[in-house]
Amino acid sequence: MNHVRSVTILGATGSVGRSTLDLIGRQRDAFEVAALTAGRDVAGLAELARRLRPRTAVIADPALYDDLKNALSGSGIEAAAGDQAVVEAAGAGADWTMAAIVGTAGLKPVMRALEGGGTVALANKEALVSAGDVMTAAARAEGATLLPVDSEHNAIFQCFDHARPESVRRIILTASGGPFRTCGLDAMRSVTPAEAVAHPNWSMGAKISVDSATLMNKGLELIEAFHLFPLPAEAFEVVVHPQSVIHSLVEYVDGSVLAQLGAPDMRIPIAYTLAWPERMETPCERLDLVKTGLLSFEEPDLERFPALGLAKAALREGGAKPAILNAANEIAVASFLESRIGFLDIAAVASETLARYDPPAPASIDEVLEIDRQARGIAAGITGKFTN
Ligand code: NDP
Repeated sequence: MNHVRSVTILGATGSVGRSTLDLIGRQRDAFEVAALTAGRDVAGLAELARRLRPRTAVIADPALYDDLKNALSGSGIEAAAGDQAVVEAAGAGADWTMAAIVGTAGLKPVMRALEGGGTVALANKEALVSAGDVMTAAARAEGATLLPVDSEHNAIFQCFDHARPESVRRIILTASGGPFRTCGLDAMRSVTPAEAVAHPNWSMGAKISVDSATLMNKGLELIEAFHLFPLPAEAFEVVVHPQSVIHSLVEYVDGSVLAQLGAPDMRIPIAYTLAWPERMETPCERLDLVKTGLLSFEEPDLERFPALGLAKAALREGGAKPAILNAANEIAVASFLESRIGFLDIAAVASETLARYDPPAPASIDEVLEIDRQARGIAAGITGKFTN
């Protein structure tokens, strides 16, 4: 890359944040770090800050301000704390911002980064699932560039003809199928949290691993893809591809299909967004097609994986439905991880929450957050019914 870029990492202490900083640390001369933020991990944030030398380090929990200040004493790095300070860091005008805060806590910071009109590398799922219309309208209005970090959307972004979207007929997201791809419905009833978080190909946190096992993750990704690429809802499909080598595909009107392939390492899509529109070296494992051998594909089974059907319906209906689905799913997954409901109950809780709650489409982030709050309350009540 031929000029120094200023970068801010929101969610620096998480898995995506640390992968981003790993890449930045390998090309220190190409980047100037403006701000790093975290939720509660003061020690992790302070250690990263001393290494990457940002102007500011922000901890979201205001009670941890003194701890952060002490941990950074003598470093010359400014310490700040509180949700509003995280939002301000997001709006401090970096050329490039990584949005890798987990959950709805990420919505306001993403919005502020988009309002700044710079480049936003988006990992946080809720931004597009729960607030897709609001976020994409803000990005358009401010001239911000939204680059998808998730491996599937990043793959589509790399294959998509952005100048001629009308030449694209179909977008196909690949799904690994998760650990229960070949499991019968009866056996799925008694799946344990430990079995559900053991993802076959990717190493991820518990919540997202359960979402991969139910295929809810793929459903949420369909909704995200709809907001990122200008095609009708019916143009987005899912195919199960157990090897996770092809990260997604774009089919053109002439029948050509373009795919992006690579090792399952998040640093590859992150590096793409970090260097865009150029490319940068990464230390990632290279794809060995001969060693990989077989690439196989299957139709997703909506009977065993009803979460995918729920997400498709929420995408078609639009409005508040995706936000409700996301909130209800989070509540249900948390209950499942505490062994309070069964694996198949996760989709049942989400389905009943969607049936019971039908508010108008949100027009602002505050309205999205209110729908999220209400949906969580309803889902928590429904979860009680399924409790083991
Ligand atoms: P992690 O849980 O590893 O990290 C989350 C980050 O957000 C941490 O820095 C955490 O700080 C911070 N955080 C948590 N709560 C708050 C809060 N209330 N306010 C401010 N910051 C907070 O998540 P991942 O890195 O795995 O994922 C980040 C996002 O990217 C998620 O939305 C995920 O779905 C998405 N994603 C992740 C992928 C992956 O491979 N991991 C792939 C594609 C998308 P602290 O450490 O202090 O808690």
